[in-house]
Amino acid sequence: MRIAVVSDIHANLAALDAVLRHAAQVDAVWCTGDTVGYGPQPSECIARLRGLGAVWVAGNHERAATGALSTAAFNPAAAEAAEWTRRRLTDAEKAALDALPEVCQANGCILAHGTVRDPIWEYMFDAWTARAHLDLVATRVSFVGHTHVPAVAREERSAPEGCTLSRLLPGDVVDLAGDAKVVLNAGSVGQPRDHDPRASYGVLDTAVQTFTLHRVEYDIAATQKLMAEEGLPLWLIQRLSSGR
Ligand code: ZN
Repeated sequence: MRIAVVSDIHANLAALDAVLRHAAQVDAVWCTGDTVGYGPQPSECIARLRGLGAVWVAGNHERAATGALSTAAFNPAAAEAAEWTRRRLTDAEKAALDALPEVCQANGCILAHGTVRDPIWEYMFDAWTARAHLDLVATRVSFVGHTHVPAVAREERSAPEGCTLSRLLPGDVVDLAGDAKVVLNAGSVGQPRDHDPRASYGVLDTAVQTFTLHRVEYDIAATQKLMAEEGLPLWLIQRLSSGR
């Protein structure tokens, strides 16, 4: 079974569709949250994932878009975009987002947005955080998002933190065979922050036990034009060009 793992789409439909075209022959789509927020097409991205029957967990932006989470802890541009998204979504779309779990399991893998310790808010930016996640997670392989930076952390007894955490580059293939727990971050489809503006996603191949990271070009200008037309914050528009 081949599964496209996407995360942090952030209402960027052009990026999502480029990724889905690139992934082509996958059997399933998994999403580790933040499908809405920042970008101009939240309803379209929700419809796309629902149409694919995606396995999907909530991130902080799904929760903010429905009003379940206050935007007080968001930066001003993020809060403005979250409030724009909340006004734009229908009650049925908000109900669908509210129904999303914070942690779920599929094919023997756990999915969460941040970490299983704090699925909505915690960023897995360092090995200590990755270790806390790995200690708590019940399955050997798990997936998170939230940082917008593709990465892998693997249990490693000899490391001071008990695991190693490293970035994933385009074309990297992670071998998932063996006994060590592994947590993967597929990066961000719709707002990458690792200085590579291309959409990021990965493919989990359960037959050969690998995860491969891909970067895909998409029409950044088309998304930026829609954002400008909607009056979304300039900083959010500009950062798509630089991928940070
Ligand atoms: Zn995000």
